[in-house]
Amino acid sequence: MLAAVLHGPYDMRVEEVETPVPGKGEVLLRIKACAICGSDLHAYKGKHQKVTFPRILGHEFSGVIEALSPEIKDFKVGDRVVVDTNKTCGQCPQCKAGRPNLCKTTVNFGFKMDGAFAEFVRVPEGINIYKMPESISFEEAALAQPLGVALNAVRRRAVVTVGDTVAVLGAGPIGLSAAALAKACGAQVLVTDTEDFRLEIAKKMGADEVVNVLKDDVVGKSLEFTRQNGFDKVIEAVGGMQDTTIQQTTQIVKPGGLIVVVGNFSGNKATLRITEFKDREIEIRGSRGQHGTVPYCLKLIESGVIDVKPMITHTIALDGIVKGLERLEEQKGRTMKVIVKF
Ligand SMILES: [Zn+2]
Ligand SMILES: [Zn+2]
Repeated sequence: MLAAVLHGPYDMRVEEVETPVPGKGEVLLRIKACAICGSDLHAYKGKHQKVTFPRILGHEFSGVIEALSPEIKDFKVGDRVVVDTNKTCGQCPQCKAGRPNLCKTTVNFGFKMDGAFAEFVRVPEGINIYKMPESISFEEAALAQPLGVALNAVRRRAVVTVGDTVAVLGAGPIGLSAAALAKACGAQVLVTDTEDFRLEIAKKMGADEVVNVLKDDVVGKSLEFTRQNGFDKVIEAVGGMQDTTIQQTTQIVKPGGLIVVVGNFSGNKATLRITEFKDREIEIRGSRGQHGTVPYCLKLIESGVIDVKPMITHTIALDGIVKGLERLEEQKGRTMKVIVKF
């Protein structure tokens, strides 16, 4: 099969590799769409802590079942499906407590096992597989994974509900998904970013107000938006410059408010004025990946409650993947989701 193999930092080659064979309890998936994620870009640059080489990246994908082990009765060849991106142990205290996204021995597609920038992927036993609704496209279904990450942040960690005021810092795919989900939960939503292009997408996806932090006063706009009280919930989805953005969250959250950090960049640090958390009783929570949210995301896309299409700015073929990664890096102001279509 043809696959994009990352041999080392900045060394990705589209080449012939052996097609995987599904073993007992396993499924072979013919990939139809795989979106490039910010973390794929980190991995490409050799900055992702989990990736070992050589590795086929790609964890936001959908496809068709090509072959499967005879023990699997719930699916058949030809089914259009999405799968969970992690294999967790199922045995540790976190897995048993219903929080498998915190499992210490997680193995993820595209990081510790081969992912979906390839014609086929072998899905190991123990990974959940979900049938796609008839009406949604493979590209939309591939975005159920990042939407699931945002759903974990918005519902499980921030517990956004009707009437909340919510700020989302960062209009990347996770931030945009979080804004759309918060809106769907009945919140009033403000989104910040440094690029007008990204803020325009935020408006299309339901943001009530957008602020370009390079042009506008975030604190002033936030107080105006929340009638001088500050936000009930603030979701940090930037990741790259948290020493700045986490400070910002404390300036715009209300007394007694909640900050949820979903933005991700390995090695990041933030300096916090702890007295501010104490005196104003602010809470801060992390949000890691997702578990079990994909079926809900497929339903949200199918029903039209969430439209992920405004995020899809480019579709490319597998042999254009290096250009796709470069585009994501260099043309941030004109690129959101780049999807490899097969
Ligand atoms: Zn991702
Ligand atoms: Zn576990």
